[in-house]
Amino acid sequence: MKVAVLPGDGIGTEITAQAVKVLSRLAGAGVPLELEEAPVGGAGYEAAGDPLPEATLKLARQADAILFGAIGGPQYDALPREKRPERGLLRLRKELALFANLRPARVYEELAGASSLKAELVAGLDILIVRELTGDIYFGEPRGIATLPGGEREGVNTMRYRESEIRRIAQVAFDAARRRAKRLCSVDKSNVLETTELWKQVMIETGAQYPDIALSHMYVDNCAMQLVRNPKQFDVIVTGNMFGDILSDEASMLTGSIGMLPSASLDAGGKGLYEPIHGSAPDIAGRDVANPLATILSAAMMLRYSLGEERAAGLVEDAVRKVLREGYRTADIYTAGTKKVGTRQMGDAVVAALAA
Ligand code: NAD
Repeated sequence: MKVAVLPGDGIGTEITAQAVKVLSRLAGAGVPLELEEAPVGGAGYEAAGDPLPEATLKLARQADAILFGAIGGPQYDALPREKRPERGLLRLRKELALFANLRPARVYEELAGASSLKAELVAGLDILIVRELTGDIYFGEPRGIATLPGGEREGVNTMRYRESEIRRIAQVAFDAARRRAKRLCSVDKSNVLETTELWKQVMIETGAQYPDIALSHMYVDNCAMQLVRNPKQFDVIVTGNMFGDILSDEASMLTGSIGMLPSASLDAGGKGLYEPIHGSAPDIAGRDVANPLATILSAAMMLRYSLGEERAAGLVEDAVRKVLREGYRTADIYTAGTKKVGTRQMGDAVVAALAA
């Protein structure tokens, strides 16, 4: 299985190096992985004058999965829009038709104090938000700002979903729920919006093929409230692009530490791009202090969702849990009485826990 490794910029190179160590350890133990690196973002611009160089896109197309670090940095802010690092990632998502965004929010017992919610509300939290990524009001036509007769301006966006778009994200969400606690909550606003009334109908129709999954429905406003009232009631949440944008950021903050959260963006065939949810953190780049665990956990998701290596994924997640239990902490999650380590040492600790 071929993995394209795209480290990108800033801490991207430091954190992906740790995930590569973990994957190489698994490869050494018989998991059939072949890793190949290529530049993207600012690094792509510097290497080939393009944030998504042709050779990088070719490698990403050929690979079974993509492990992505982070892109961006102040040195690229003055470039024309087409040359900026972010364009590299947006184009990659579009070129590969990555329509399903999976964002788990998990709170390890040891880190429950880092959340802005009370520790008992979030300790042991383990939810997954599945967000549709290529449709909805963010892409619907017509759109724009027009001047009406009489001179007043009017802004228009269109919330639109086709049945086929809803069905394919429903299948991703039901399949994900099947690998977890088998509960799926579909979030809509079907009391007001016809688009999401169709969303709800298609979820129910798709659910008929998944009799082992308990499907429930919730309005988006209630879901926003329930996420901070009692987040542990959820297993998997599936929702459209705009609601998912907002709810997944809300859910990520339940955990309190941006350096711990992985994500996946999948296409219709299960191929995916896996990345930490944070950016390139120029403020700490090159200092060996960034937390590599979000990237290592992204590699675990890659093993599970694109490479069919459920057992290896579980081993990596167990290794992360073990290093946290043993008290290893990078600066962002450090508290008195624990062992402060740098990026490389944290990667080494995970590899050692994996080997054990
Ligand atoms: P950021 O996520 O890079 O950093 C926000 C804060 O979190 C910073 O203080 C940073 O030091 C800290 N942080 C982030 N990741 C960390 C980690 N692994 N360990 C410890 N601390 C960590 O967001 P930003 O500062 O708004 O953006 C910086 C650059 O990253 C910009 O160029 C932005 O465009 C880019 N960006 C890229 C992505 C991506 O690659 N997907 C996502 C968001 C932002």
